Order: sequence, then C-alpha cells, then structure tokens
Amino acid sequence: MLEASHRYFHKAADLFDLDPKLRSILLTPNRVVKAELAFEGADGTIHHHVGYRAQHNNRRGPYKGGLRFHPAMDEDHAVALASLMTWKTAVVNVPFGGAKGGIDCDPNAMDPIDVNTMTRQFVGQLKDVIGPTLDIPAPDMNTDGSVMAWIMDEYSKFEGFSPAVVTGKPLHLFGSEGREEATGRGVAHVIVAALEEEGRKPEGITVAIQGFGNVGSFAAQTLAGWGARIVAVGDHLGGVARDEGLDVPALMKWTREHRTVKGFAEAEEIDPVAVLTWKCDVLIPAAIEDVLTAENASEVQASLIAEAANAPTTPEADEILLKRGVKVIPDILANAGGVTVSYFEWAQNIQQYRWELDRVRQELAATMSRAYTDVRTMAKEHETDMRTAAFALAIQRVGRAAISRGQIRRKIDL
Ligand code: NAD
Repeated sequence: MLEASHRYFHKAADLFDLDPKLRSILLTPNRVVKAELAFEGADGTIHHHVGYRAQHNNRRGPYKGGLRFHPAMDEDHAVALASLMTWKTAVVNVPFGGAKGGIDCDPNAMDPIDVNTMTRQFVGQLKDVIGPTLDIPAPDMNTDGSVMAWIMDEYSKFEGFSPAVVTGKPLHLFGSEGREEATGRGVAHVIVAALEEEGRKPEGITVAIQGFGNVGSFAAQTLAGWGARIVAVGDHLGGVARDEGLDVPALMKWTREHRTVKGFAEAEEIDPVAVLTWKCDVLIPAAIEDVLTAENASEVQASLIAEAANAPTTPEADEILLKRGVKVIPDILANAGGVTVSYFEWAQNIQQYRWELDRVRQELAATMSRAYTDVRTMAKEHETDMRTAAFALAIQRVGRAAISRGQIRRKIDL
C-alpha cells in the first residue's frame, strides 16, 4: 500500500515540479512512537505486546487517525496508513493532520479485561503525545467505541475531563449522531456529485457493492433511499443479486443476524467475486484492499467506481481503468465521510454541545460535495484523473500550510 500511495504522490507532485527534498519532507512521518506493553493478565499469564503511533503530519491541525489491534500491526503499517490520513483530511479540508497506530495483538483471542488493561497501559505511554490539540485517535480494525471510551477515561485521569482526546466514542459517552453511517453516506454523496456532472440522477441507477459491513451497508441504504437499485452485493462468504433491486433494509437485518449476505432468500445466489464485474452503472468496492487488479480491471462493466475501501485498486488496474475511461473516485475522497464526522464529534466535544442528526447530515453533505468539486476543479486545471487531482489538492493544502507557518521559507509555487 505504501508503494502505491508513493506512486500516486509522486505523479501528483510532478504537476507542481515539486523539489525532491520537499517531497521527502512531505512523505516522512514527523514522529513514530513505539511502546512496550507488558502486564499480568486476568488468568495470571504474562502478556507482552508492542504499541505504535505514527504521527505523519500536523501542518494543518492535530494528528488524526485510527488505532488498530491486529497481530500484523507494525511500524511500516502505521507509517503507511498515517500518510494516507494526512492526504484524506486535507482533501476534505478538515483541520487535522494524519496519524495511525495500534498494537500487535489479537484482541479476539484475549480476555476483554486484558484488552482493557493493555489499552490503558498504551494510553499511559502515549499520554504526552496524544490529546485534543495534539493527536486524536479513533477506531480502526478490531477497536470500537468501548476501546475509545477506555482511552478517554484513562487519559482524563491524567489530564482532567477530555472527551475530545478520541473520536468514535459511544453515543451515550460524547459520541456524535450520524458517525456510524458517515462513511457510507459520504460515499453516496460523491457518487451523486459524479452523476450530476453527467446530468444524471441517482433514481434508477444500478449499483453493485463488494462488502456489506459498516461502509457498504450504509452506502447501499442511502443510495437505495435516493432511488438507486442495488443489484448485486458480495461479502467474504457469499453474494446475492436481484435485477429489480435488493430490499436493502431486509438485507441489512439479515446480515446483522447472520453476519453475511449469504442465504438471503429474496435474491439469486451468486459468486461473491462476480460482483466486481457485475453489469451495473456504479461499482462500490467496500471490503478490502487490492481487489481490482490487472486480471479483472478490463472486465469491470461499471462506468463509475467509488473506492469506499482503502486501496481497493492496484496501480496496474488503475492504469487500465483510466485507459478504458472508467471514472474512479479515489479512496482519499470517497471514504472521507468517516473522518469528516469524526471532526464534527471533536468539534462538539470541544464546544461541549450536541448537534442533532439533521445538522450532522447537512454538514457532511456540504463537506463531501465541496471536496468533490475541489478535486474536479484541480483535475480540470491540470487535465488529469481524479486520483492524481486528489493527491495534488492534498499536497497543495499541506504544502501551503507549511509555507505559511514559515517552516518552508524558500518561495515555492503551490
Ligand atoms: P466491516 O468489517 O464492517 O465490513 C467489511 C465487509 O467486507 C464485510 O461485509 C465482509 O464480509 C467483507 N469482506 C471481507 N473480506 C472480504 C473478501 N475477501 N471478499 C469480499 N468481501 C469481503 O468494515 P467497514 O468498516 O465497512 O470497512 C470496509 C472498508 O472501508 C475497509 O477497507 C476500511 O478500511 C474502509 N474504511 C472504513 C471506514 C469506516 O468508517 N468504517 C472509513 C474509511 C475507510
């Protein structure tokens, strides 16, 4: 993933003829913290893990990004994912930088009491470098609202009442209305913006979706609510299709109960992989990375792809889709609705005020459509594709912030 994102970064930096030194300044993380976590578990066994926090860039505001609890978590993952957060927050123009981190553990195989102990120990090690104005973690793989609540609680022991130290908290504990649906809704907003450009409306548009978890299901729900037909959905266990459009609320209920779309009766059963090349207007990869490859990119039938997952398209597939004239809304724009509502949560916590769901939805819609327009404007100005334009916009915004702060004193045109 790091190699691909560097490739996209350099392609965009070439538009500005950016100096190699400046490129390496923008690519290098500002700081990486590595913390040893050792403790006695609830059953008396000794636990030993390493926690990471990569703080990539804070020129545009405090570092922001998720915490992932996964056995494969390491420094390289943290650094690669942190830089993507810098570009994502810049594209939607929320006042944050980029960070990512986590712990090399399998929380599903651990006693929840031990996960709690481990999380609190990690906060103890990070407390001087995180905080509402420094670095604001959020949930990621295998971390959720409960873990965020423990972080808030532990951090508040050191610094006093600090709900704004993390986002993605439970609604009853300073979380925000509309956070759960935010990423999926954001995906739907950029799709509608892309359709509008071609004089089309969501009504009657056919959509295929890979992944029906948080992001895929809320994207489906929103688009179906606006009149689109969700014709195929696949997940890690199975796939379902229906030409007239799937009943999305019923499929969401089924998936909540069975943890897969497989077996949903009111549809035809299909091979989940076929979803990627299904006959449809819009394809939403909303599961995992590297699913659109050199092998299947020429068979994609959709004319628009919205990258709801992070890095679902390999650079080789990206080239093929570009040549075929398939429009790709890149991940750093398409799935930025989540971090946008995280920003709203942080803003509410700072103000000690609560927004109604309608306000969250309106501001999300405004942010996503503004970001879409900004990326399109950059694409037109430089006669380039949307991914390169999104990276260029991010480089410009981060670079201009660094210049205005006086951190780069030489005159540079950005
Ligand atoms: P999730 O765990 O809720 O759902 C993941 C879905 O993908 C499930 O339906 C699962 O069955 C499916 N899936 C997993 N492996 C698959 C495979 N090999 N083939 C087909 N389907 C498979 O996750 P999520 O929160 O919906 O996140 C999905 C993607 O969106 C991830 O790439 C994530 O990094 C990205 N993302 C999520 C958010 C967010 O706010 N949740 C924000 C930005 C980006």
